[in-house]
Amino acid sequence: MARKSRLLIVEDEAAIRSGLVDVFVYHGYDVETAEHGEVGLKMALGGTFDLILLDVMLPGIDGFEICNRIRQQDRQQPVIMLTAKSSDEDIVQGLTLGADDYVAKPFSVTQLVLRVQAVLRRSAFGAAEQREIRLVNGVVVDTENLCAGGDDAKIVFTRREMDLLQYLNQQADRPVAREELLARVWGYANHMEIETRTVDIHIAKLRRKIEQDPASPQAIVTVRGAGYRLMLQAQ
Ligand code: CA
Repeated sequence: MARKSRLLIVEDEAAIRSGLVDVFVYHGYDVETAEHGEVGLKMALGGTFDLILLDVMLPGIDGFEICNRIRQQDRQQPVIMLTAKSSDEDIVQGLTLGADDYVAKPFSVTQLVLRVQAVLRRSAFGAAEQREIRLVNGVVVDTENLCAGGDDAKIVFTRREMDLLQYLNQQADRPVAREELLARVWGYANHMEIETRTVDIHIAKLRRKIEQDPASPQAIVTVRGAGYRLMLQAQ
């Protein structure tokens, strides 16, 4: 029998927390919870969870700070933020700090379960396919160690950013549409109501890391009406 996926839910609202526990236990997950920010952080750093669901507004330390601290220790840990407002600022901040995805409250539990399943499917086969990706602007990406730029100017990537780069790399002969990236990198089925901004925010983060001038990108270019294309160094 397959091992149960382990989930940590950090959420201070009792009704939401117990509702989430019921749903995920029903779907076969092993679930632990925390209602306080500091307890949640300690559990997140000390345990081995397949995925962490993280509320933003928490007593003690907020979800952004927890996500930040998790990322300092483990760039591969899948995290989905539960944002109270669907304001752009919250979402952008959450994804900038390295969350894999966000779900805005009030959310559909079905959508949340689908997203959790998608993130877990993706991280299960996230192993590097190609050791190095050589970009047109001279940046060499180390896909195994999730970094680039050598020892002195080290750029680090999250697992999700690397998955995105690797998928674009496999399709480097053509631009890739946002919808395709959501389906193939995030694992979302086509019928899911998803916001393509998740892709754009991750692309913007990657550009800030690998482009000399993120405002006029050379390595990840936007092809109008078609999507994003990764530009590789000529062989
Ligand atoms: Ca809260």
